[in-house]
Amino acid sequence: MSFFENAIKQINEAAEIMKLDKDIVTILSHPKRILTVTMPVRMDNGEVKVFEGFRVQHNDIPGPYKGGIRYHQQVDMDEVKALATLMTMKCAVVGIPLGGGKGGIIVNPKELSKRELEQLTRKYVERIEAFIGPEIDVPAPDVNTTPEIMAWIADEYSKLKRKNQLGVVTGKPLEVGGSQGRGDATSQGGCYVLEEFAKERNVDPSKTSIIIQGFGNAGAHMARILSGQGYKIVGVSDSQGGLYCEAGLDVAKISACKAEQGSVTKCDSICTNGKVVDNEGLLASQCDILILAAFENQVREDNANNIKAKYILELANGPITPEADKILAGKGVEIIPDILANAGGVTVSYFELVQNQMNYYWTAEEVQQKLHPIMVDAWKRLSEYQKKYSCTLRQAAFVSAMTRLEKMIKARGIE
Ligand code: NAD
Repeated sequence: MSFFENAIKQINEAAEIMKLDKDIVTILSHPKRILTVTMPVRMDNGEVKVFEGFRVQHNDIPGPYKGGIRYHQQVDMDEVKALATLMTMKCAVVGIPLGGGKGGIIVNPKELSKRELEQLTRKYVERIEAFIGPEIDVPAPDVNTTPEIMAWIADEYSKLKRKNQLGVVTGKPLEVGGSQGRGDATSQGGCYVLEEFAKERNVDPSKTSIIIQGFGNAGAHMARILSGQGYKIVGVSDSQGGLYCEAGLDVAKISACKAEQGSVTKCDSICTNGKVVDNEGLLASQCDILILAAFENQVREDNANNIKAKYILELANGPITPEADKILAGKGVEIIPDILANAGGVTVSYFELVQNQMNYYWTAEEVQQKLHPIMVDAWKRLSEYQKKYSCTLRQAAFVSAMTRLEKMIKARGIE
């Protein structure tokens, strides 16, 4: 089953549970607009190379389309369509007035010079200019796209429009209209949700161990915040492997060591009896909560049975395959799904857009004061749907999103 087919399957499953109107299911199963563009770039060796890119706009009933742009050699239309669909659901889960979109360019950015990457980005903006804008479609960073790339997008779009249009894109550096709190928003939002979940399940942080797969941007911030709340972080990993330490890891020391050595696998000396393991070994290690913060498809049919955690929080997008989802449900493992757990990122992106449009900026404290109630309310809605329909949290998240979308679509009229 393709990634997009799987997203549609999740919509159908939840629709069945909530007895959703078939017309709404049909609408939500089709992206509104699909763009394919090509960008010729003169490379540093003098040759012209043509790159292919996409932008998918899934639904804009709640507000402008919103979703990142991915630069990767394996990006394809199916993936972009799936991620755009999930963005519509994610924004609806947290109840922010944005729809879902996603973009991508087939490129390995590590093979391009900075000048080539900037040319490619500016050409992409030129190609999709008519279809984006602060009130139309607002891209953001995703895999391999950085705040610097977002600044180029804002600059190019503003030049084309002959006026400052910083709200065309989010995830920008602070000096180009970025928001306070965007750097750790995804992890902070995930922690607010986990806090509510822990209260409902009587989880005591001081007696709870956590493994985090993926000690990158999202995973490292998550480790820092959770260890500050008293949780014991017993394992972390990156693309080179993992480090397990039953006694608990000092997160500040791990961060410093990874920055210096390049991988957590070189940091076993900072922990008594620290064990370097491969990624499969880390996923199968003992812990109470497993946080998936690396990439998609990490827990699959072949390794789901090895998981020992009682709870999983998906900070990454789509880290568990549908087959693994079923196996884990059978084992009684509860999963806090991606479209809620990592929605803090898009929520602060929304704040960035609002601040750009007002041209008035909030402090880091104000951002947290606004983020916290949004995440808590979203959790409460989801928890109620879970109880009402006796379903999984993932199904409850789709029910929560589609309940909101149905009302909006019907209020505006289908025809
Ligand atoms: P990142 O590139 O900063 O971090 C990813 C980390 O995962 C890196 O440390 C990498 O070494 C590690 N990794 C790669 N393959 C691995 C493997 N097989 N096992 C263990 N570790 C592995 O990316 P990020 O921004 O932290 O994003 C991580 C995930 O969270 C992605 O799925 C992303 O889509 C999702 N996400 C991120 C944000 C955000 O704001 N950063 C928002 C929403 C969703």
